[in-house]
Amino acid sequence: MYEGDIASVLITEEQIRQRTAELAEEIAARYPVGAPEGDLLLIGVLKGAVFFMTDFARALPIPSQMEFMAVSSYGSSTSSSGVVRILKDLDKDIAGRHVLIVEDIIDSGLTLSWLMRNLKTRNPASLEVVTLLRKPDAVKIDVDVRDVGFDIPNEFVVGYGLDYAERYRDLPYIGLLDPEVYGG
Ligand code: 5GP
Ligand code: MG
Ligand code: MG
Repeated sequence: MYEGDIASVLITEEQIRQRTAELAEEIAARYPVGAPEGDLLLIGVLKGAVFFMTDFARALPIPSQMEFMAVSSYGSSTSSSGVVRILKDLDKDIAGRHVLIVEDIIDSGLTLSWLMRNLKTRNPASLEVVTLLRKPDAVKIDVDVRDVGFDIPNEFVVGYGLDYAERYRDLPYIGLLDPEVYGG
């Protein structure tokens, strides 16, 4: 599949599976089960986080519920500008709930920092983030991301939800796109 487009595999399917299981165990231990706030509420950011979200939810040893948001950051297809627009908002009120944002990747962190501010105004009981991937620039933002699957180099990756022009999301691993594909 996608023969020749992937320069190399950065993170294998098995590595993703193992790390997701570890994160799920660690994170679950911090949330009370049967609390008055209700089940942990996972908020996935469409579309990139979909694969991680569904695998993470199934690896969690505690009950969780799922909601999705879609946001678009104005900018080119390979970098973001920090100006964010909501394409699909949550269907439900999150006031008083324990919320965990599930992200695919944090690069500049501008999208996430905007999203955190936005969700905080809705008064959740708690608001945390788990991201599968994080790039080096993310250290520049003042968003406290406790749970990171993998720190990766500053290169454009695809697969396991991450796209280039809507392609490659269906790859089961994280790979480096051959720069020839995007004319680099
Ligand atoms: P940020 O606002 O943190 O710069 O950008 C986050 C968003 O940019 C991600 O949700 C993702 O859509 C996109 N992005 C950043 N780096 C990559 C990458 O290496 N590959 C892909 N496919 N998307 C990326
Ligand atoms: Mg994302
Ligand atoms: Mg994208």
